[in-house]
Amino acid sequence: MSLSPSAAPRKVNVRTPEVMERVQAEVEKHYRSALVEAVRKQGSVLQIGSTTVRLAREFGFCYGVERAIDLAYAARRVFADKRVFLLGEIIHNPEVNRQLTEMGIISIPIEDQEMAVAKLSSEDVVIVPAFGAETNLMKIISSRGCMVVDTTCGDVMSVWKRVRGYAKGGFTSIIHGKASHEETRATSSRALGDDGNGHYLVILTLADVDFVCDYIRQGGDREAFLKRFSAASACSQGFDPDLHLRRVGVANQTTMLKSETEEIQRRLKQAIADRDEGSQDNFQVFDTICGATQDRQDGLFDLLQKPLDLLLVVGGYNSSNTTHLVEIGEQNLPTFFIRTSDCLTSLEQILHFDLHLKCEKTSYSGKLADTTSAVTIGITAGASCPNNLIEDTLLRIFQLRGVSQQEVWKAAGI
Ligand code: SF4
Repeated sequence: MSLSPSAAPRKVNVRTPEVMERVQAEVEKHYRSALVEAVRKQGSVLQIGSTTVRLAREFGFCYGVERAIDLAYAARRVFADKRVFLLGEIIHNPEVNRQLTEMGIISIPIEDQEMAVAKLSSEDVVIVPAFGAETNLMKIISSRGCMVVDTTCGDVMSVWKRVRGYAKGGFTSIIHGKASHEETRATSSRALGDDGNGHYLVILTLADVDFVCDYIRQGGDREAFLKRFSAASACSQGFDPDLHLRRVGVANQTTMLKSETEEIQRRLKQAIADRDEGSQDNFQVFDTICGATQDRQDGLFDLLQKPLDLLLVVGGYNSSNTTHLVEIGEQNLPTFFIRTSDCLTSLEQILHFDLHLKCEKTSYSGKLADTTSAVTIGITAGASCPNNLIEDTLLRIFQLRGVSQQEVWKAAGI
């Protein structure tokens, strides 16, 4: 569908003091945890008998997620008599999305969005999630006259500003991220620039960047290049590696692993310098990892300074920032990526997501099961995980180790 670039979304403000007061109460009821707060106050450690649980210094909801959830709840309250739609998921956490569905907010799956929003009317409300949405989708929503509650995080919008700037200056955006991720799709659409003539390439792995660097240095098989990236929808339409790798600007999805993003930036910078006899005129870079992602990765590195027997990372399996916490953990100790406390099936069995096999599987933990010996368990969670899920996990660990809820509350000073 081709639409006028001048169409502007009909944004509505739902943040009135009365509404927000009610929303705060509901959000706290759904996601807050007095236990987690108490454990944090006592140094983020809870030790009862032979079981010790350590929490990371930073984990759970970030400012962007809190804002997005507040606005979604407020939209529901303000437009109680209207249809309220959400583009995909508000954030990548099944528990939060389930709550929104229960409140009557209708999620439009990502694959149907253009067709679905084209049928909406000016009486409908559309919530844009924290990741933002693609420009073409926003134009369709505007053309339908829908009311828009935009929860796009400010840190995501900073990336958009950067890639728009690259396009304006004639630079191709190379985006470190996952091409199918909502945020990267939204960012890629902005990398086309205001006139739509810009270009982008999305790279995910170090193997991708090496492939691109080789092409920058000595050219290569154009068809193989296009096959690799267009098959994954990872480059703009009409992308030509012989033309569009001349001037490149690097950005990244806000939730990537910092060390990997830095390495990708370094390799691209070196490739351009090698090709251009040391000149950096055709290279720009801007680190767009957000503060919340950074804090959670740093918090985990701190947690790993002390001995742990195993690490539990709690969150949605499709959450990018959570996945990177799992990757950090796996390099250091046995790490289990769990959705909720229900994944702790028993002392022996943990149902968890295997990042490498990309599926849930059951693993066996002898260390946890041996209740006669001391065990120390670390817990962290990504920016989309509510504290009530951490509380459930804490309680479940102690329950499996023979400690009652009452004893846990008492030890936490509640
Ligand atoms: S993870 Fe970062 S970019 Fe995403 S909502 Fe939170 S603060 Fe914003």
